[in-house]
Amino acid sequence: MTTTSAVSETTGTDLPEITHWIDGRRVPGTSGRTAPVFDPALGVATKRVALASQEEIDAAIASAKAAFPAWRDLSITKRQQIMFRFRELVNERKDELAEILTSEHGKVLSDSIGEIQRGLEVLELATGFPHLIKGEFSQQVSTGVDVYSTKSPIGVVGVISPFNFPVMVPMWFFPIAIAVGNTVVLKPSEKDPSSSIFLAELFQEAGLPDGVFTVLQGDKLAVDGLLESPDVASISFVGSTPIAKYIYETAAKNGKRVQALGGAKNHMLVLPDADLELVADSAINAGFGSAGERCMAISVLVAVDDVADRVVPMIRDRMAQLTVGDGRRSCDMGPLVTEQHRDKVASYVDIALEDGAEVVVDGRGIEVDGDEGGFWFGPTLIDRVPLTSRVYTEEIFGPVLSVVRVATYEEGVDLINAGAFGNGTAIFTNDGGAARRFQNEIEVGMIGINVPIPVPVAYYSFGGFKDSIFGDSKAYGLQGFHFFTREKAITSRWSDPSHGGINLGFPQA
Ligand code: NAD
Repeated sequence: MTTTSAVSETTGTDLPEITHWIDGRRVPGTSGRTAPVFDPALGVATKRVALASQEEIDAAIASAKAAFPAWRDLSITKRQQIMFRFRELVNERKDELAEILTSEHGKVLSDSIGEIQRGLEVLELATGFPHLIKGEFSQQVSTGVDVYSTKSPIGVVGVISPFNFPVMVPMWFFPIAIAVGNTVVLKPSEKDPSSSIFLAELFQEAGLPDGVFTVLQGDKLAVDGLLESPDVASISFVGSTPIAKYIYETAAKNGKRVQALGGAKNHMLVLPDADLELVADSAINAGFGSAGERCMAISVLVAVDDVADRVVPMIRDRMAQLTVGDGRRSCDMGPLVTEQHRDKVASYVDIALEDGAEVVVDGRGIEVDGDEGGFWFGPTLIDRVPLTSRVYTEEIFGPVLSVVRVATYEEGVDLINAGAFGNGTAIFTNDGGAARRFQNEIEVGMIGINVPIPVPVAYYSFGGFKDSIFGDSKAYGLQGFHFFTREKAITSRWSDPSHGGINLGFPQA
């Protein structure tokens, strides 16, 4: 098996470079630092990505800052036309984009298309921005006085995204931010950075002026550069909880608006009256889709009463039908993103065995339809997971589905509410009263009722509770428009000739 250590941060210079996108063109890195980008199904580095220097960070932000006034002042109609054209181009070219995405992330092509489609939904919402940035108007609040509000863009906004959705997560933010008049500096994950350049080129082709959308490739240095810059007005972050917390604290300390979405450990509560065929299918789809590398993946099935005895064999039988392999072939599940991540995920099987859990299906050593060097790990099912085990307490972010058994609905709800995260959850039942009670009692931001991955549509907002989000603003939907605009309240007097002269009091009727 190929090892990642074969390509260090400074070697592999013969590989093609993934550049920055600054001032409307590809800009090769000058820092001398690059990181390898792997094809996870082959297990080899196929490209290297530039890691920004401080000078490049400054240049990216300066370009976005310079582009802001003209973009802000471009008419709504012209901005909207560019957004429409961009939507058309992304839609037309989505197969190519999916190929790029799969070649760096590993997820199967159909899933890459699905990810792009969910990003497009937000882009489509963003095209309707004129309606969502209208202000309010109150006439004659005092004699000759009107009060009204406008929603203005906030300036240069930073977006920092994770590896698991290299298209969708940036598109949760930048279409709305740009449509309403901001300029954006995107810092993609260094694990799968090519999609962002592809999107930047399409946006330029759609007519976007140079500097409005910038891609700054890099690592912590680039992130810190955005966090520290006085010219960056806000930060939108999605990634793991420790980094989300760091982003939130640092951005807030520097006076920025910040939304920082973190990790997850999503539970699915199954009541004895549920349709177990639906439950088993949903557990498979939500547990193993995208190899479990989804922040809305279901990683724990909480089985009430005798549910586990009935449903675990059903899930096990379905798992036997899943095919794992190169995402470009017609498989159900691809590899994990890196060898290091694969090894970490696999280590949880040992932890489960040490902690006395029952490993029903072990994903190690799985047969694959792909290159033997790929970062493979098969779907894994672990029953009777102790609540003290790290298998239960930690986010694994791989195709590992745990089953825990509880006696009652109340015990299940208490368990879910005791967790550190509160991103997504689901209840499976045919009892409407129980479902209604669940949606009220559960302390989680996104809830599915007989729906396993309740990612809200674009016109609602995406975000969890507790350690799954820092900041009070969710992604996209109305909250997205709120985050990327600031309101001006204007009090205006156009006096008639009989105005009353000097008066130091508040204006009154
Ligand atoms: P990550 O936190 O490692 O990286 C996210 C971004 O932060 C990347 O751009 C990375 O370059 C940057 N980064 C990493 N370490 C940093 C550091 N020390 N200082 C500054 N910046 C740093 O996350 P990941 O592994 O790319 O993505 C997976 C994680 O993202 C999972 O925890 C998953 O649950 C979470 N996620 C959450 C959501 C959500 O909506 N809540 C959505 C997708 C992914």
